[in-house]
Amino acid sequence: LTENIAKLDTHLARFRNGGVLNRVAGQDVAGSGGVFEATSPVDKSHICNVAHGTAADIDAAAKAAKAAFPGWRDMAAAERKKILIRVAEGIEARAEEIALCECWDTGQAWRFMSKAALRGAENFRYFADQVSAARDGKHLQSPTLMNITTRTPIGPVGVITPWNTPFMLSTWKIAPALAAGCTVVHKPAEASPLTARLLVEIAEEAGLPPGVLNVVNGFGEDAGKALTEHKDIKAIAFVGESRTGSLITKQGADTLKRVHLELGGKNPVIVFDDADLDRALDAVIFMIYSINGERCTSSSRLLIQENIRAEFEAKLIARVNKIKVGHPLDPDTEIGPLISDEHFAKVTSYFDIAKEDGATTAAGGVTIGEEGYFVRPTLFTNATNQMRIAREEIFGPVLTSIPFATEEEALEIANDTDYGLTGYVWTNDLTRALRFTDQLEAGMIWVNSENVRHLPTPFGGVKASGIGRDGGDWSFEFYMEQKHVGFAT
Ligand code: NAD
Repeated sequence: LTENIAKLDTHLARFRNGGVLNRVAGQDVAGSGGVFEATSPVDKSHICNVAHGTAADIDAAAKAAKAAFPGWRDMAAAERKKILIRVAEGIEARAEEIALCECWDTGQAWRFMSKAALRGAENFRYFADQVSAARDGKHLQSPTLMNITTRTPIGPVGVITPWNTPFMLSTWKIAPALAAGCTVVHKPAEASPLTARLLVEIAEEAGLPPGVLNVVNGFGEDAGKALTEHKDIKAIAFVGESRTGSLITKQGADTLKRVHLELGGKNPVIVFDDADLDRALDAVIFMIYSINGERCTSSSRLLIQENIRAEFEAKLIARVNKIKVGHPLDPDTEIGPLISDEHFAKVTSYFDIAKEDGATTAAGGVTIGEEGYFVRPTLFTNATNQMRIAREEIFGPVLTSIPFATEEEALEIANDTDYGLTGYVWTNDLTRALRFTDQLEAGMIWVNSENVRHLPTPFGGVKASGIGRDGGDWSFEFYMEQKHVGFAT
């Protein structure tokens, strides 16, 4: 811990001195709205000032992205690929700095963030390898025509990201956009501005031309809104809350914006009595109590078969009570502080809501200390799917356990939600797994596994969890236009 804190101090010095500036057309620029403050959730201390971008800064960034677009679009694929690979290498070289800053900025534990930074590099490497093929089309012969399709980048795009694992999530959007040949204006979350700055620095050092990636910090209601309404921005890739996704769709309507929404979840993990219960227990714990539970794909509803419920919950309680909450830079820490005052108030409000609704607080349900936004990992049992703790996205280390008797009942409960991002099914009955996954309403389902991301597969949700898919060629479907040309034969 002491070593990590000392290293962090060195990395933060430049932010303490100069703050976080916006980056437009390869230049550092102050925000036209002045500055806002970045604070650490660990001890509520001031980290640095951040440029407060408004509509005027978004306009400048959109114009820079528009000006840089033809050059980036027309650069030889091999050259663009080289630059993106160098970005991946730059991320790897500075992974420790990225992870340390992210932990301090967001409260996420070092043990997870050190890996998340490297996943950012993987995202760049993966999409760098797709650069050449991204434009490939099809030849569709008809009796009188030779039909050819091609794909071209849609133009400058806006990327709006949330504060949970912000570095990794930003690369997840920005890497495919750049690989497609788009230029980008990135509006990072106001609660976690540090690592977006590191990414644009790394990208420019890798040879990304000025204006290809621009970063404007600021708040959703001004900078974010202006980005979604800007006429030069052709598409918005958004990750965040469902209600913000709906606002963005409305805001983008006048300029006919293409919108990709990756939104919230209330994901079920369904454990049947025939499952490998030790493996299931590990996965249940990992998928809600890692990354502070501030994770869209977390399994926040445990659906447990009635006949194994008592034993499974007893083991779960014992494990949850042992989870180490503490300083995020301590390598032993599993859960750090929640992101902000506001989010702390939201998560802890469910401690009372659960009681009012008649659930049992089987573990946690308490806050720790006064210094930062720390809560004990929490488990609610004796819950029903009608309770607010089972219906609303809490977005913290809080699990709600709901019993079921039959497969039919499990499916009904699992699908009885506004959301549909992920589902996790634990059973050793193959036929049941096939039947169940076929009917489960979710964009992504894992059977006998926690969430393991494989980059070529589609990522995204149904219902209030989103519209559109990322990953593999699905990303290019969003960042590119199809063109058809028919030649008379
Ligand atoms: P949020 O919706 O409050 O904010 C996300 C981003 O949108 C921020 O940059 C914010 O400034 C901006 N924003 C807010 N209002 C805006 C507006 N009117 N116009 C344009 N931009 C606006 O979300 P958050 O609290 O930062 O993040 C947590 C949420 O993100 C959770 O609901 C979580 O499930 C979701 N999430 C989803 C995925 C996914 O892949 N499905 C991944 C991570 C997080």
